[in-house]
Amino acid sequence: MMVNKLATNIGPVFNRSVDILKGMKMPEESYNVIRNQYYAAIILAKLERVKANQREHVIGVCEEDIYLPDEAYVLAHADSVLGTAVVSLNKIRQEFYGLPEDDTKVYDRLYKLAVDQVSFLCDVAACRNPKCVHYYSQTMMDIDNKGSKLCDICKRQLINRKK
Ligand SMILES: [Zn+2]
Repeated sequence: MMVNKLATNIGPVFNRSVDILKGMKMPEESYNVIRNQYYAAIILAKLERVKANQREHVIGVCEEDIYLPDEAYVLAHADSVLGTAVVSLNKIRQEFYGLPEDDTKVYDRLYKLAVDQVSFLCDVAACRNPKCVHYYSQTMMDIDNKGSKLCDICKRQLINRKK
């Protein structure tokens, strides 16, 4: 349900259709047995195969814990060449912090992460405005504190985007 809501809400932000893949199955080869996590780069390469055309952007939403070699974990990752992104619900769920589940809060985080990633797919440069949804955020506090909209600088880049 949360993912359906995301699919409805994210397209208009970018004025294009964004395909959201819910409950995606993790590619076996992305699993790292030592880390007990899934390698985000492999997931993104796999997601490219479900693209209907070159222009389409695909976001996979998963429950699993994902990582990049230099990071303990990542909440999300995108590859603008492939046009794919992955967002993990693993650590944005309140349950992860021993708190009661809060769908509104989790959706808010999922939405912000997804807009942030699709902005990267549209070649919008990393933003330094802490209120902008495209501001770099690694902690829950960063995410909860930033707004859910793109700032004017990011919006301008989006209008002038090439892809
Ligand atoms: Zn911005």
